Amino acid sequence: MVFIPQRPNASDPPIRVNLYSDTQTRPSAAMKQAMMAAEVGDEQHGDDPSVHALCDRMAALLGKPAAMFLPTGTMCNQIAILTHCRHGDEVLAHRSSHIITSEGGAPGALAGVMVTGLDGARGQFDVDTLQAAFRARSRHAPPQTLLEVEQTTNFGGGAVWPLDKLDAVLDAAHANGMKTHMDGARLMNAVVAAGVPAHEMVAGCDSVWLDFTKGLGAPLGAVLAGSEEFIEAAWRWKQRLGGAMRQAGICAAACSYALDHNVLRLADDHANARALARGLAQLEGITVEEPETNLVFFDTAGTGLPAERLAEQARAHGLMFSVMGEHRGRACTHLDVDAAGIETAIDIFRSVLARQGEPARTNK
Ligand SMILES: *Cc1c(COP(=O)(O)O)cnc(C)c1O
Repeated sequence: MVFIPQRPNASDPPIRVNLYSDTQTRPSAAMKQAMMAAEVGDEQHGDDPSVHALCDRMAALLGKPAAMFLPTGTMCNQIAILTHCRHGDEVLAHRSSHIITSEGGAPGALAGVMVTGLDGARGQFDVDTLQAAFRARSRHAPPQTLLEVEQTTNFGGGAVWPLDKLDAVLDAAHANGMKTHMDGARLMNAVVAAGVPAHEMVAGCDSVWLDFTKGLGAPLGAVLAGSEEFIEAAWRWKQRLGGAMRQAGICAAACSYALDHNVLRLADDHANARALARGLAQLEGITVEEPETNLVFFDTAGTGLPAERLAEQARAHGLMFSVMGEHRGRACTHLDVDAAGIETAIDIFRSVLARQGEPARTNK
């Protein structure tokens, strides 16, 4: 069965605090001004100045020779896999990685590769685990051509790969003759949290991308970067997949605006996530994973409520968060939620959980 997104019911109570995802931000008035003022051209023909400006900035920021503008992060991941790999190749990635769990099987459907999932806490794995997955090169074994890492890890709780641990696995992959790709959907969250410049953090990656819709406030857009040869080959896949655009500068301008105004403030989202985690930890039955960035994962098992039930009840009070497992919830901070919104969210969680006990008492 295919899940078709449903429109909200007119009868749903208004949303007071939306912690569902950092993708749910709305472009600000100032961002829309920047979009309206953008100089544009035909991106597919290579003459959109706003797209060029964004790609040049991103190449410099990431320390890579070339970059390309794409509509979504998923397309960045898939074009990277298509460019690095051939049919029948094997990609190594964490078991919880977005390319395995959330891209509709695209690595198999499009690139014809198999992706082997590696184990490890918080969406990360160590060199020993990686090396244990290496196969002796032979006619029998699939060619292992690509290692993929996420920074920050999404289902790993928004964790940040420490630079030494990251470089160790990237080096080991290179030593094994593989290319390395970083899913940097939330790379700038990692950069801000760790205080490591982006170009240093991704120095060991042959390709890397950043999403402008994850907490950076843009309506669409992602930039994939790598060597000149990589980006040139990637352009053929961009064309084939219908990712070559026209007056895309309108959207690139929003992304450039986000680089100017919405990166350093990610530290506020991280502070709000810590405040939310502290508040949730005080609620009986809720176990919270310590947030490193803007994602707060929590376990509802101790409340006796599946995460889905808690989400429904919270929604009835105007609070949204996402459900990531039977008892696993995820609340995500972003630029449309301030410290007061976090307090409201904690109050809603508290009153929903308090009400849990009530029917049992009145039934006695
Ligand atoms: C959101 C996300 C993606 C996909 O990005 P889209 O822009 O939604 O296609 C890929 N990887 C990670 C880790 C993500 O969080």
